[in-house]
Amino acid sequence: MVKNKPMGLYVHIPFCSKKCDYCDFVSYSMNKKAQQQYLDALFSEIDLVKRQYIGKTFDSIYIGGGTPSIVYEGFIAGLARKLFSSFHFAEKTEFTIEINPASFTKEKFFEYVQAGINRISVGVQCLDSKLLALHGRLQSLENIKGTFDILRNSQFPNVNGDLMIGLPGQTRSSVLKTVKFLIKNKVKHISTYGLQVEKGTMTFDKIRRGKFKSIPDKKTVSWYNKIYKLLKKNDYIRYEISNFAKPGFESKHNSKYWDETNYLGLGVPSHSFVDGYRFYNTKRLDTYIDAMNDGKSAVYSKEYLSKANRRTERIMLSLRTIRGLDLEQFEQDFNENLLVSRKDQIDLLISKNMLKIEDGYLKVTDKHFYVSNSIIVSLI
Ligand code: SF4
Repeated sequence: MVKNKPMGLYVHIPFCSKKCDYCDFVSYSMNKKAQQQYLDALFSEIDLVKRQYIGKTFDSIYIGGGTPSIVYEGFIAGLARKLFSSFHFAEKTEFTIEINPASFTKEKFFEYVQAGINRISVGVQCLDSKLLALHGRLQSLENIKGTFDILRNSQFPNVNGDLMIGLPGQTRSSVLKTVKFLIKNKVKHISTYGLQVEKGTMTFDKIRRGKFKSIPDKKTVSWYNKIYKLLKKNDYIRYEISNFAKPGFESKHNSKYWDETNYLGLGVPSHSFVDGYRFYNTKRLDTYIDAMNDGKSAVYSKEYLSKANRRTERIMLSLRTIRGLDLEQFEQDFNENLLVSRKDQIDLLISKNMLKIEDGYLKVTDKHFYVSNSIIVSLI
């Protein structure tokens, strides 16, 4: 949808000290030597692909994981230098790193700032140390407070706090306490994630065996709505279902995923979206490192998105945002007037106050934003 917009760049750091019980991301526990091998492999991948991006400008970098803050000191600075010398970046590039409070130190913070990082995303999840431990997450309340002391004392300007809702054992008051803590610490951005219990995780197994009780959707929806009200009262804008920001602090990088802007993913198992193609790097660390040692691509799957798939994605992604779906642009791109082709569904949803049309944009109403999946599906 967005043509000639600067691209985003994502780099995955697939290391964690320990697997959290609910996590199904690709992550490995690794020593310094293995981290060095991975950094070498990332450098090789950058050298392999950079020619394809000559003439393109990037305006966001996102180092995610895994746990980017567990790698040895100097890793992130070396990676940043390599990126800046290999690709062309806009003057105001947003440069984010995800950190886990359990592995964040003052020394690492100074390294990040010197490397050009201007946005830090803190995996807070919850302030309750006991609950975090129950789910196999390493950080404690002291770690979280220590992290925010460092960020606050240095007046670091752009901090995101990640918050998880729906962890078995979590209560409404503990969720709200975490949100209030983030507000008090003046974070500019808050991401709220509802727990998805994936097959194969320890959490899934514990729920199946009756050791944990999942939190009913009705409860998490009411918690989310309370969070929304609290953040709204404190001048945060909900610009996407899971994302809230002070005006001007919406994440440039995340927005690229929702508005179909090109982005390149590096490392294992990153995915990319470039000029209509989606492609995915291998999930296996050994395969990735072997491919890089042999000077071969790590992409294991690539597809050109058909018009039908792009249409579906456009509806799904844009209705997750507060901006909504640009109906005129949709008609231009897909030769379809949605108000005609989905007239019955749209009329019904408008009559139930679930959808609205404003200035040519189709939007989900505030009240139904968090449970918009069924609304979105009915329009596809
Ligand atoms: S720190 Fe994040 S990526 Fe690592 S295991 Fe926990 S949830 Fe997964």
